[in-house]
Amino acid sequence: MTAGTRGAPPPATAAAAREGGQARPGTAGAAGPGAPGVLDRLTPARRAALRAECARLADLDDAEFGVRLLAATPTHEGRDPALLRRWAEAAAAFGVGLAADRGTHGPAARVVERDGGLEQLLLARYVSRPAPAVELFTDTLALGEELADLLGWRAWFPPGALRAAAVAHEEAHCLLHRDPALRRALRGRTGHTALRLGRFRIAGHVAGADELTAHGYAGARCGLGRSPLLLTAALASAAGALEEARGQD
Ligand SMILES: [Zn+2]
Repeated sequence: MTAGTRGAPPPATAAAAREGGQARPGTAGAAGPGAPGVLDRLTPARRAALRAECARLADLDDAEFGVRLLAATPTHEGRDPALLRRWAEAAAAFGVGLAADRGTHGPAARVVERDGGLEQLLLARYVSRPAPAVELFTDTLALGEELADLLGWRAWFPPGALRAAAVAHEEAHCLLHRDPALRRALRGRTGHTALRLGRFRIAGHVAGADELTAHGYAGARCGLGRSPLLLTAALASAAGALEEARGQD
């Protein structure tokens, strides 16, 4: 689960393709109540600007984040936004259905906590080697928690929800990864016709659909008030503001 880029979130594959260093268990990054957070490094004016930027993001509807994610995914450049919206909504709904159906699937992978997520804008990722595991980036999660407080978004993202959503998101990737029937069902649902032979339609893979399924799954599993994509877009803005502040030090 990536925290996006400034502007538009990248496809899941970009994050999944990166390899990291050694796993370090238990590197807690969350600041306690009242403890100074990393956003305190911003000037009051820059914090106000960040709040305004994130309020504009919150004004968008959840499907719009899906459209932006698909539009930024290779092979979808120049596609009709209405088509991207249909795919985004179908893929997210597939994830919601999968969450409701969770009892029929196997246990999730082991969870390993690490830091060093902020530089890569990563919240979590699923790694299949050496053993299947969900890596959680505690520094990005701590920033997400701090941000939800700063923005007054706790009704949508309660304390701890981001961690749970990140685990659930990678769990969805894991489910899709090991179940070809599930991947076929997702292809059928997004309805992208890759090839037509007479009366036969071959359902094609919509790049980025698995990412939106994972977000839909996580939002439903964790009972979030808004798509996790809203908070990841806000995280990308916050990371940008922090980078600027570092440049001015
Ligand atoms: Zn993902």
